[in-house]
Amino acid sequence: MRARTTVAATIVVGVALVVTAVSLVVFLRRSLVERVDDIARVRAHDVATLARQGTLPTELAVESDDGSIAQVVDGAGRVVAATAGLRRDQSLARFRPPGAGSEVRTVDGLPFGEAGSYRVIALPTATPEGPVTVYVAASLSPVDDVVDVLQGALATGAPLLLALVAVTTWTVAGRTLRPVDAIRAEVADISERSLDRRVSVPATDDEISRLAGTMNMMLDRLDAAAERQRRFVADASHELQTPLAAARTDLEVALAHPDSTRWTETAADLLAANRRMERLVRDLLFLARADAGVPRPPARPVDLDDIVLAEAARIRGSGHLRVDTGAVSAAAVDGRRDDLTRAVRNLFDNAEHYASSLIRVELGSDDRRVTLIVHDDGPGIPPADRKRVFERFTRLDDDRSRRTGGTGLGLAIAREIIDAHGGSIDVEDAPRGARFVIRLPAR
Ligand code: ADP
Repeated sequence: MRARTTVAATIVVGVALVVTAVSLVVFLRRSLVERVDDIARVRAHDVATLARQGTLPTELAVESDDGSIAQVVDGAGRVVAATAGLRRDQSLARFRPPGAGSEVRTVDGLPFGEAGSYRVIALPTATPEGPVTVYVAASLSPVDDVVDVLQGALATGAPLLLALVAVTTWTVAGRTLRPVDAIRAEVADISERSLDRRVSVPATDDEISRLAGTMNMMLDRLDAAAERQRRFVADASHELQTPLAAARTDLEVALAHPDSTRWTETAADLLAANRRMERLVRDLLFLARADAGVPRPPARPVDLDDIVLAEAARIRGSGHLRVDTGAVSAAAVDGRRDDLTRAVRNLFDNAEHYASSLIRVELGSDDRRVTLIVHDDGPGIPPADRKRVFERFTRLDDDRSRRTGGTGLGLAIAREIIDAHGGSIDVEDAPRGARFVIRLPAR
């Protein structure tokens, strides 16, 4: 990250520098050359004026301030006037403008004068003696000198500037990322065993402190999940240990007194304990799978009234309770039939277990949702416990439900299933008994 930022910044600044430097050199050279052209042009016009008036001296004055040299050449190529001290046997330049206007060219190396490039202007002029061409040459070496100096400065300055950008970016990026790296190291250090530790949040109110805050929130959730998992395993082991120990004691006593043992009763007790454990293990497995997020079969249309009526019939069949299904009407939801049956059965099992004589069931739906109410006339659930009963291994009347086979997982499983179907399950107020209400999205 740090290296990438540095490389990117250096490349961007490098490209910008090259473009700027090249344009600077090109523009500066062009404007300096234009100034040289202006000097040559003014000089050429001055000489041409003299030539037109027929007052041209054969020796032209030396221009010491700009160093330009001038020559006037007639139609036959003879030099009729030239800057004092300049050779007169040869024309300064050979080109002639095609028309009456002037023409400026860059010429590398004149036949005489100083070496180097010149800007040469040729200006055709009519004189009393006939047509002549005025040549004025101005040296480009001052321009080249300035451009050389600028190029030299850029060639040393630009790499220095680039190095400065690279070092600064590297340092700043390093300083910015240091807290991120510190957070990474802290998180790497927090193993599954030390999930209670938290990363330190920098005092600054910026992205990094927010990252640390979010990290800590994630650790809170992981910690809570791990704690829940630990408690689940501990509770599950405890639940299994009790019937196993009881079964072992039964067997030990029976074997110590084989003659006085009623083997049929012992076998029936053991079978009951076995059933309880089987049910417990099945419930544990269901919850473990739900926790692990094992994918469930896809949702299909389910007639909830079928399930409810079948469960009601089952309870009626077992004998002593009345089940009032007068308020059950058709209600369809999208879901998994097995799971929904299981959730409804858990409610009916509890109602059967706690009711004195009557279970009232209501089922109905509007456009948005389906509502199922299972209401018994038993002892009910105190308001303070109405949330707790849905937690795993909660038993309000411990001895009784343990003896009768309750695992304390029935309502937890029902809530898990209803949650997974996008619904809700609650215990609501009732004048008598427990009133469980399930709400599910209608089909
Ligand atoms: P269990 O297997 O013990 O029935 P549940 O999770 O189904 O476990 O229920 C948790 C606890 O909630 C029960 O132990 C019981 O104390 C209480 N409970 C559940 N249903 C009823 C009910 N219909 N009437 C009174 N108490 C109930």
